[in-house]
Amino acid sequence: MEISNYQKERLTNILKKLIQIPTENPPGKTEEVVNFLINEVFREEEGFHNEVITHMKDGVELHNLVTKIGSGKKKIVLSGHFDVVPVGDQTKWNHPPFSAKMVDGKIYGRGSADMKGGITSLIGVMKVLNSDPYFKENYELIFLGTADEEAGMTGSELLSKMGFINNADLIIIAEPTNLNIGVAGKGLLWATIQVTGKSAHGSMPDKGHNAIEGVLKIIPQIYNCLEDKSNKTLGRSTINIGKIYGGTKINIVPDYAELEIDFRLIPEQEHEKVISNLRKIELNPYSINVKITNSLQSLLTDVNHPFIQNLTNITNSEFIGVSYATDACKYVNPTNFIPFVIFGPGDPNIVHKPNEWIQLEQVFHATEFLIDALTKTYLK
Ligand SMILES: [Zn+2]
Repeated sequence: MEISNYQKERLTNILKKLIQIPTENPPGKTEEVVNFLINEVFREEEGFHNEVITHMKDGVELHNLVTKIGSGKKKIVLSGHFDVVPVGDQTKWNHPPFSAKMVDGKIYGRGSADMKGGITSLIGVMKVLNSDPYFKENYELIFLGTADEEAGMTGSELLSKMGFINNADLIIIAEPTNLNIGVAGKGLLWATIQVTGKSAHGSMPDKGHNAIEGVLKIIPQIYNCLEDKSNKTLGRSTINIGKIYGGTKINIVPDYAELEIDFRLIPEQEHEKVISNLRKIELNPYSINVKITNSLQSLLTDVNHPFIQNLTNITNSEFIGVSYATDACKYVNPTNFIPFVIFGPGDPNIVHKPNEWIQLEQVFHATEFLIDALTKTYLK
């Protein structure tokens, strides 16, 4: 299908307005965006049912939006986050970051690609399908607009806990993929390894156990914690030793040092296995303690799901793995597996940087492709 010029103009204005409402995280306030959507986009008199879910984080009230149309048994979830990463150095922007300046079919601004463009595409889908009585009779379409995706995903975690995802047939997350079809994402495991030795005077190192030397000696064992596995879409798991800390003074043998390690894990690599391997690391006479500070499961969807097959045929796009984490981490887990796809307008390489932009044509295409694939899958 092709959306009308009227709808394109309407979506363009919505996208500009979304960018012009700053939702930098921190603090990640999203109340104004939610009010705008309820009052001017998903209007109740047009048949949209809105529910605002708020939660507190670091003393700030954050707003999530749940908008429903349709009353059918089968549930389809469309999801996007309202918050954006900070602007950073203002002087590096060619146009003010919240001006939503349009130049040659592109709109510039913080959050344009990540992911107010994607949210606008989903709004287009909601609007078009809202005028399809058959769809509304047989399906329930739920838009989940979340807060705090960029700094902890507390919004999607809450909506997931409240059951909005339960029994969904499909989740579409409109993060920027350049209209490629995201079917996999690496998991994340952050670990701190604490090494304790014994302090001594720097002139008598043999009387102590140097914790910095201990840390260096265990590094090869860390690389052995990963199994030799790879994934067709995501490649291999990775390790980044991101931080090393230890010592107090040049003439003191340090009794404490630590390493912070960022593992990005493919679905074939179990988190628990890595953690248990880390806990097995030994080095005499040091004592070693492992602390896990963050853990997000890797995700792999069912690429044979009819919607994903249809979307692939319609877009002619390829399957990709995404290296960044998305709200999908909070929606999907091995015990509550729901087919999902990450698909949206915007170039993932330009997000979180100055002069972020989005091609308007891609926003419209995303709406059109999603409607075509939904119609082909569910309106037979
Ligand atoms: Zn994002």
